[in-house]
Amino acid sequence: MSDLEAILEETRAAIAPKIGTGKVADYIPALARVDPNKFGIAVVDLEGKVTSLGDAHDPFSIQSISKVFTLTLVLCRHGARLWKRVGREPSGSPFNSIVQLENERGIPRNPFINAGAIVVSDMLLGGGTAAVTVDQITEFIETLAHDPSISVDREVVASEIETGYRNAALANFMRGFGNLENPVDQVLEVYFCQCSIAMSCVQLARSALFLAAGGKDPVTGQQIVSQERARRINALMLSCGHYDASGDFAFRVGLPGKSGVGGGILAVVPNRCVIGVWSPGLNANGNSLVGTLALEHLAAKSGWSVFVG
Ligand code: GLU
Repeated sequence: MSDLEAILEETRAAIAPKIGTGKVADYIPALARVDPNKFGIAVVDLEGKVTSLGDAHDPFSIQSISKVFTLTLVLCRHGARLWKRVGREPSGSPFNSIVQLENERGIPRNPFINAGAIVVSDMLLGGGTAAVTVDQITEFIETLAHDPSISVDREVVASEIETGYRNAALANFMRGFGNLENPVDQVLEVYFCQCSIAMSCVQLARSALFLAAGGKDPVTGQQIVSQERARRINALMLSCGHYDASGDFAFRVGLPGKSGVGGGILAVVPNRCVIGVWSPGLNANGNSLVGTLALEHLAAKSGWSVFVG
């Protein structure tokens, strides 16, 4: 057994009593049906070597983790123009909060809260159709993951459309401020579909490997984004990737990370590896309860942190 396999086994033993705790996201009915006892973790290193255990190959709803990929894609297409329409500050508010938007005149605090990601969806849509835009997002992720089998879970999309009143409110509010350019229903379709992409821990970790390697896919050598851009995406993940618990995640784990209400978390260890973890039960901030504990344990045992002196 390698050192990493031993640490992952130890991590699983440490969090085992907590598996099944937390609350699955029941405001999206399709997510409420997911087995709360699932747990998977995968580490992909810069050679592409996968070390995993548990349900690391099961696809789950990546939800807001998709915001890392859409941010990357919008920066590739529009560069710094994004920052005229979305900020770069932690929100200190829940993921679906509308409170700051009025004071800040329809400019969301960052691209990882729902409002910010909806603006990103609008920019990616850019006058096209939702179906084509969703295909482009999915193909981009497939290219990053080196896996052509990634798809949108249509049952989750239907569930999100049916219950997405708060996201519709955010989108309409921003359209009222002139910060959405496309029809609200089209923008929301892109947003709901990207959130409903299903991926496993292994696929997630593989697809974000470029963020651990200066913007370059370390296995193929393909430059996905510049080194500067990769560094900035990591900075946003660290400061804004866990909503109003981003500071706590930095304190406990010390790695750039992005969570989703499907219970997944993606964490980047620069120059070393990427970690995907999944456990559906959420804590009060909407982040995976066991996933966070597992990353905290793994980071402590491995010494991985961007803050090591
Ligand atoms: N689709 C979810 C929503 O918009 C994403 C939230 C999340 O994963 O944090 O409510």
